[in-house]
Amino acid sequence: MARRKIISGVKGMRDILPAQQPLWDKMRKGAEETAAAFGFWRLDTPILEEQDLFARGIGLGTDIVEKEMFTLTTRGRDKLALRPEFTAGVVRAFIQHGLFSLAQPLKLWSLGPLFRYEQPQAGRFRQLRQFNLEVFGAADAILDAQIIQAGFWFFKKIGLKNIILHLNSLGCAKCRKEYRRALLAYYRPHKNKLCADCKKRSRQNPLRLLDCKKEQCQELAQKAPLLVDHVCDDCKDHFKQVLDYLDGLEISYYLDNTLVRGLDYYNKTVFEFFAADEKEGKKNALGGGGRYDGLVKLLGGKDTPAVGMAVGLERVAEEIKKQGVKINGQNQPTVFLIQLGKMAKKRSLLLFEELLRARLAVAESFSRDSIKSQLKLADKQGAKIALILGQQEALDDSVIIRVMETGVQEIVPLVKVIKELKKKLQKLK
Ligand code: AMP
Repeated sequence: MARRKIISGVKGMRDILPAQQPLWDKMRKGAEETAAAFGFWRLDTPILEEQDLFARGIGLGTDIVEKEMFTLTTRGRDKLALRPEFTAGVVRAFIQHGLFSLAQPLKLWSLGPLFRYEQPQAGRFRQLRQFNLEVFGAADAILDAQIIQAGFWFFKKIGLKNIILHLNSLGCAKCRKEYRRALLAYYRPHKNKLCADCKKRSRQNPLRLLDCKKEQCQELAQKAPLLVDHVCDDCKDHFKQVLDYLDGLEISYYLDNTLVRGLDYYNKTVFEFFAADEKEGKKNALGGGGRYDGLVKLLGGKDTPAVGMAVGLERVAEEIKKQGVKINGQNQPTVFLIQLGKMAKKRSLLLFEELLRARLAVAESFSRDSIKSQLKLADKQGAKIALILGQQEALDDSVIIRVMETGVQEIVPLVKVIKELKKKLQKLK
């Protein structure tokens, strides 16, 4: 009979296999501990949202909304999208559930999958996962610095070194208007040198001309007028304060006047984290964020200043591997439960639960019937003690305790097994 065709996973979407889980556990734990340390509450939002939320929030004409959204129409004709980022959904939940009535600033964190219809390549997938932080209700520059501090805290917690911060100020709507004019005047004589996307950008959102990764456009961007020269006094003062707080934290930064981020909602501070050796190419940021004081109002809520950041976990995982950070494997069992014979096999299921209830790290391989192969496995997994329940022991209500290192065995009554085990393990420490 012909073999059935194998169905592969969807392009650009990856499985996280068991062998990779210890690394992912490290990142998930690092995220959870960082969020708790800085006073963030967890918020989980659905993966699907109304398309309009992203079109309004991230902005029509942005790459994410225009080219990268996975969209669908339901049978009821609702137009939905798989979330391409967290912020818009978090803001929606903040407004919808009246979270503005809680004590502000309100700090919220999330972790989970996002979807972007991009051309899959190194560091760029169609399903990615992010660790996301948002702070609502504080315009103070100290929060911009604190959220960057939390980012560095996370990188340190998971063992990453040499992370570089790129920083810029986008000013506010008022100063950006003036800058837009200066930028358009600069680009006008160079229009023919721009790539097709940038030609469109110059009409829709000229600020994003600075963000293009194509070489010919990057060359032009390097000589473009600087946004910092056009920001108003208020924004300048805010940026200076952020730099001052970062200096106080001894966090060094690279002032990057071409850093604009690909989303419309940012104002004032924007930043990105890079691994040191990625700096030159400025290709793949590990994460980024910024202030978005106008978004809550834009999505129908009260005027609420906010700042946030997100770290992409696939890229962080790659960096962890690259830097050779030590990853602990799964917890080793201390006790391995071996069974032999039908009656013992049946009794073992319950004994396993009794051992778990006594908080012992216990492993088994109940589908194996040979004592030799079970002992081999106990040894391979590094168990200190093997508990052997054979036919005779099952009849006698007893069990054999075998110290793996020495091979010394002792029979104890089943009712005393937990006490005896703990005594033995104490001695083996
Ligand atoms: P962004 O808000 O678009 O700058 O995304 C924040 C972070 O998410 C980036 O710095 C990356 O680490 C990660 N990220 C964004 N898009 C992708 C993607 N397509 N594949 C993997 N990671 C991504």
